[in-house]
Amino acid sequence: MAKYTEADCRLCRREGAKLFLKGERCTSKKCAIEKRPLPPGQHGAGRKKVSEYGTQLREKQKAKRAYGLLERQFRQYYERAAGMKGNTGELMISLLERRLDNAVFRMGIGGSRAEARQIVSHGHLTVNGRNVNIPSYQIKAGDVIAVKDGKKDNAIFKELRGAKITMPKWLNFDTEALKGAIIELPKREDADLSIKEHLIVELYSK
Ligand code: SF4
Repeated sequence: MAKYTEADCRLCRREGAKLFLKGERCTSKKCAIEKRPLPPGQHGAGRKKVSEYGTQLREKQKAKRAYGLLERQFRQYYERAAGMKGNTGELMISLLERRLDNAVFRMGIGGSRAEARQIVSHGHLTVNGRNVNIPSYQIKAGDVIAVKDGKKDNAIFKELRGAKITMPKWLNFDTEALKGAIIELPKREDADLSIKEHLIVELYSK
């Protein structure tokens, strides 16, 4: 996970959107943006006029922070999408959703993308029976993601056993067997974030 010196909740308040960076807290009344939906800082409430560039920049920062990436990593998704046939913005979001850490998070393993990323990089999971500890690994339709047998007694997975998890229709996860599958590739509309990707495309294509 890219390191930021700002507290996670400040990032949400800065972007004016819930980025779901702190697990259960994000869906509770303790969520900072629910309590105080203003940019952080002494003059947060006073900032009003934003230029076209500023709007595009903020949208890019919002997406980059939600997926926990550094600028260079994030831009690579745009460049890859720009080289593909179709709507660049939608393709970029689909590629981001196809990251293994994101798929794991969407399965309900880990309370945030950051936690899911740690679970992947600590080597707790397999993809199609093979060890994969690369958070940026791009999942494919039909991939089977499972907790390694030797890791199932880990506290993170014990808590997950039998839990009822709401997840998107493009994947599933059996909380008893601790095993799930990618049913189909995620589309733009499957992303759970309110990102105006066309603004990011406008920013990068200048
Ligand atoms: Fe903090 Fe999560 Fe709310 Fe963002 S969504 S402000 S990270 S609690």
